[in-house]
Amino acid sequence: MQQDHPLVREVYPELVAELVDLLESEGERELAVCARDLRLVGECDCADDFCQSFLTAPHPRGRPYGAGHRCVPLLPSQGMLCLDVVDHRIVYVEVLDRPPLRRHGAGPRM
Ligand SMILES: [Zn+2]
Repeated sequence: MQQDHPLVREVYPELVAELVDLLESEGERELAVCARDLRLVGECDCADDFCQSFLTAPHPRGRPYGAGHRCVPLLPSQGMLCLDVVDHRIVYVEVLDRPPLRRHGAGPRM
């Protein structure tokens, strides 16, 4: 079922390249590898202008991530990027105060 979701690196190649770079410079090699294979599972629906966050794993709405969850804040040149990681898996990419992401390929339309 996961296969139905597009690869984030095909939809937002620039963003994934940046994530991989930032993760490698943080010493998060394992996550840098995961970042290449993330799938775009859903978009954040908060409707805030500055927010372009997205889900990379299905997660029940409003449910805490629970044990094994950690936050990985990154230091991009612009805005804020933060990953939610559960059991070594990236489940959510927070993209805040960033220029509009450019979409490539055949991702789901807004
Ligand atoms: Zn949001």
